[in-house]
Amino acid sequence: MQTEPSARPRGLFEYDPEELADKLVEMGGRPFHAKVLRRDVVAKGLLTPDSLTSLPAALRAKLPEELPLLVGRELDRTESRDGTIKLLTGFDRDGRRDNAIETVYMPSRKADQGKGATICVSTQAGCPVGCPFCASGLNGLLRNLQAHEIVEQFVRARALGPISRCVVMGIGEPLLNFDALQRALEIVRGGLELGARKITVSTVGFPERVRRAAQADPRFDLAISLHTPFQEQRDELVPAMRGVPIEEVLLAGDYWFESTGREVTYEYVLLGGDNDTPEHAGNLIDRLQGRRATVNLIPYNPSPELPYRRPNPQAVEAFRAHLESAGLVATVRWSRGLEDSAACGQLRAQGAGA
Ligand code: SF4
Repeated sequence: MQTEPSARPRGLFEYDPEELADKLVEMGGRPFHAKVLRRDVVAKGLLTPDSLTSLPAALRAKLPEELPLLVGRELDRTESRDGTIKLLTGFDRDGRRDNAIETVYMPSRKADQGKGATICVSTQAGCPVGCPFCASGLNGLLRNLQAHEIVEQFVRARALGPISRCVVMGIGEPLLNFDALQRALEIVRGGLELGARKITVSTVGFPERVRRAAQADPRFDLAISLHTPFQEQRDELVPAMRGVPIEEVLLAGDYWFESTGREVTYEYVLLGGDNDTPEHAGNLIDRLQGRRATVNLIPYNPSPELPYRRPNPQAVEAFRAHLESAGLVATVRWSRGLEDSAACGQLRAQGAGA
């Protein structure tokens, strides 16, 4: 007969602050130890009970059995030549590698050395949006992450080094798991000094969800993935948005700006030969002119199982220059960690495949 796996103790980040204080008192500690413990783990990346010297030794000794700091398991870690580290974390509840969570830690480039890393976190296991150029969403949505699983990505990344910026651009559509994301950001903000401009949440732009997020005291910047100015092509490239007019998405972006005072960044993955033509640039200008927004161009990272191509650098530069000649602000982000598939749209297919 098959036996159920024994239940594990709840982890540190599965408690809300009041409950955590009660738990620590039950373990022989004092209520203020709750704050100290979370601060030391989130802000300093201290992950072993022995390193938590702000707590009494007797309390520290009980942590592994009664209040584990982390509840996931590191399944894999790859480091690319530029120092980018990709972590794959599994949680007991799943026990499945394809249900694991990916986080990327990108140390500063030379010019900003000492400023800490940017981390890229995921909000779902798998993704329901189904962009055909994205390896991360190939198998659809497996599940929403819980708030503590999002926090654990920050904590594991912090243990690798200081963090100065966070992009919520990993696997999943953040606005479809918004409550958990907001709860997680609340917790990590207490330890990591990440102001609103240090956190960017990237969405495909469900208009109602963008509006709701704008009203929810969002202490982050918003990026909306547009990828093309043509409706028919967007319906193909962002299938979950099929039938949602691009203009509706842009109006929701305008609403975000009016409500928060922070400009939207429109993300545009440049797919060689597909959406990098002068006609695309011209129509994108028509869509965005007069709006307060920046365009972030992301040259595509090829994935062996997908038919899309990386654009050539001349096409990327011509596209950027075309936008700028019309007065738009356009930047190019060449993804990092490319050789280890830790770059955008490449996370899960190779890293977590069984
Ligand atoms: S690009 Fe983003 S939204 Fe699209 S399938 Fe991949 S993870 Fe999902």
